[in-house]
Amino acid sequence: MARPEVRACKFIVILISLQSMIRVFAISQNSEEHAPEVHCSRERSRAAYKIVEEYLIPFVEKENYQMSQKCKLHPGNDIFRDQEDHKIHVDVNEWRCGYCKKSFRAEKFIDQHFDNRHSNLLNVSEGNCFAELCGALHCDHVMNSAVPKTKCNPAAATRNRHLCESLADSCFPVHQGPSAGRLHELFLRQFCDAHTCSGRVKPFARGGKKHTNIFYLAISILILMLLPIFYLIVFLYQREMRKGTQVLRRISKQSLKKKPS
Ligand SMILES: [Zn+2]
Repeated sequence: MARPEVRACKFIVILISLQSMIRVFAISQNSEEHAPEVHCSRERSRAAYKIVEEYLIPFVEKENYQMSQKCKLHPGNDIFRDQEDHKIHVDVNEWRCGYCKKSFRAEKFIDQHFDNRHSNLLNVSEGNCFAELCGALHCDHVMNSAVPKTKCNPAAATRNRHLCESLADSCFPVHQGPSAGRLHELFLRQFCDAHTCSGRVKPFARGGKKHTNIFYLAISILILMLLPIFYLIVFLYQREMRKGTQVLRRISKQSLKKKPS
C-alpha cells in the first residue's frame, strides 16, 4: 500500500543529495578560480615598492645594512613581488608573462592575467601588503603629481607620521649599531618630516637613486665624434695656408731676381 510513497521519498532523498553534491562541486570550482582573495591594491603596492627602491635602498646598500624580515619594507614582504618580477616589458606596447610567456598590449591586461591565472603564486600572509605603507611613503605624491593637491588634513598627517616613525623604529632599530642609527635618521628626514600641513618640507629631501642623464651622455658622444673632424679641418686649413705662403715666397723671390736685369 505504501510503496508509491516510499518511492517518492527515495526520489526526494536522491534529489536532495544530488543537489548538495552539485553545490559542493560548484563551491570547490569557485574557490579554485578565485582563491586566495586578496584585499591589497596591486597598483599602490607597486608605487610603494618603487619609492622604497628609489629613495631608500640606495642608502641601505651604501651602509651595507641587512633589513630584517620583520621590517615591513623588506622586499620579501611584498605580496606581489614574485609576479612583478615575472613581468617582462618587451616593448612600449608589449608585456610578457614570465610564467607562461603569454603577451599583452598593456600593463593592466597582464595584471588581470596574473589575478586570473597565477593568483596561486601570491605571497599571501599577514601584513604583506606594501600598499598599506603608502600613507607613510607618500605614494599619492608620486602617483598623482599632475593632479592639484587636496586640502591637507592634519589628523591624517599625524597618523601618517606615526606610521612612518614606527617603520623607522622597526626597520632601523637605533640600538643595533651606527649604520642602523644613521639609516633611522635618514628615514625620518626622507619620509617622516614631510607629514605635516605646513607644506614647507617636501618628501625625499635626501634625494634618490642617481640616474645617468641620457642627454649628457648623448652630448659627450657627439663631442667625442666631432673632435677628430675638427682637428682634421684645422690640419687641412693650416696645410693650405703653408702652401699659399710658399707660393708667395717663390713668386717674390723670382720677381727680386728679375729686377736687376
Ligand atoms: Zn601567465
